[in-house]
Amino acid sequence: MDLLIIWLIITPLFFGFGWIAGRIDMKVVLKQAKQLPQRIFDSIDAIIDSKTGIATDELKQVVEQEPQLIDLQFSLGRLYRKRGENDLAINLHSKMLTSQYVFSEEIKDKIRLELAHDFQKAGLIDRSESLLRNLLNSQVYGHDALQMLLIIYQQDKNWQEAIDITKKLSSSDYSYHVEVAQFNCELAQEEIIKSNYAKAIEYIRTALEINRKCVRANILLAEVYFNQENYLEAIKTLQLIEKQNYNYLPLIIDKIFEAYARLEQIKEYLTLVKGYVTLFPNLNMHEFIYRKLLNYDTFEATVDYLRKAMIATPSSKIAALLIDAQLNNLTTIEGKADAERVKTLLLKYNDKLSSYNCRCCNFKSKTFFWQCPACYSWESISPNNIEN
Ligand SMILES: [Zn+2]
Repeated sequence: MDLLIIWLIITPLFFGFGWIAGRIDMKVVLKQAKQLPQRIFDSIDAIIDSKTGIATDELKQVVEQEPQLIDLQFSLGRLYRKRGENDLAINLHSKMLTSQYVFSEEIKDKIRLELAHDFQKAGLIDRSESLLRNLLNSQVYGHDALQMLLIIYQQDKNWQEAIDITKKLSSSDYSYHVEVAQFNCELAQEEIIKSNYAKAIEYIRTALEINRKCVRANILLAEVYFNQENYLEAIKTLQLIEKQNYNYLPLIIDKIFEAYARLEQIKEYLTLVKGYVTLFPNLNMHEFIYRKLLNYDTFEATVDYLRKAMIATPSSKIAALLIDAQLNNLTTIEGKADAERVKTLLLKYNDKLSSYNCRCCNFKSKTFFWQCPACYSWESISPNNIEN
C-alpha cells in the first residue's frame, strides 16, 4: 500500500520534471534559433562597416553552435586570412579535416585547398605545395590547385616549375604566353647576372618565340650586347621596342643614350629621341632629354624643345623644366629665389601626381615592376608614369 502511495506521488513529479525540462530545452532551442540568423546578419553588417574583428567574433559563435554549417566555416577561415590571423585559419581548417562530422571527399578537398591558402599566406610554402600537389587529381579542385601552385612558384622564383604548371593550365581561353615569356626573361636575367650570356640568349629567344611583343626580352638582349661591348647591336635591339610597344620607351631612353655615348654618337641620339617625342608626345621622357640637350646642344634648341613639349602636352614637370632652363637668365637675386620656389612647388606637385599604375588592381608605385606586387599580374603596370 505504501509503495502504491509512493508511486502515486513520484509519477506526476516525474512527468512534471520532464515537462519543465522539456520547456527549458525548447526555450533554449527557440532562443538559439532566433540568435543564429541575427548573428550572421550582425557579422555581415560588421563586414560592411569594415569591422572584421567583430564579424569574426560573431561568425565564430555561430560556427561553434552549428558546426555542421560548413560554408560559414569557410567564410570564417577567409575572414581570418583577410585579417592576417593565419594561425587561426590553419587551426580552423585543420579541425574541420578531423571533425566528427563525416564530410564528403569533395568537401575535404575544399578544406585542403583552404588550408593550402592558409599555409601560403603564413609563408609555409612547402606545406602548402605538398597539399596542392596531392589535390592535382581532384576532379573539382585540381584546376584551383594548379593556379595556386603557379602563384607559389612565382613567389618562390621557381620559374622552371612555373613554366611547367602553365603548360597544364593553358587552354583555348587563356594561353599564358605573356607569363611564360616573362618567366623565360626571369631565367635570362639570372644567367646575365652569372655572365652566362649564351644561356641567357637562349631564354630570350624562347621568350620572343612565345611572345614576339615581349619588350623585356629585347631590353635583356640589349643588356647582353652592352655587356659584350657590342653597342651597335644594343642600339638596334632597343630600337625594336618602338614597334613592339612604344609605351616602354621611357624605360630605355637612358640605355639608348649609354650605347650611343659609347660610340660617341650623341648627335645621332638626340635626333632619334627628338623623333620619338614628336611621334609620342605623351611619353614621360622630357626631363632626361632636357638634361642631355643642356649638355650637348645649344641653349636656344633646349628651350625650343621645352616650349614645343609644353604646347603639345602641358604638365607641371615641363613647366618646372622651363623655369630651370631660364634661371640663369634672371638678373636679380630675388627673382631667382622666386623662380626656384615656383620650380620646387611644381616638381613636388608632379611627384605627388606621378606614379606607375596597375590597370588590373589600380596599385600605384613610384617604381616600375614587370609583375604587379599587389595582384601578381604581368605587364599590367603602365611604364609611362605621367601625371594622373
Ligand atoms: Zn595589380
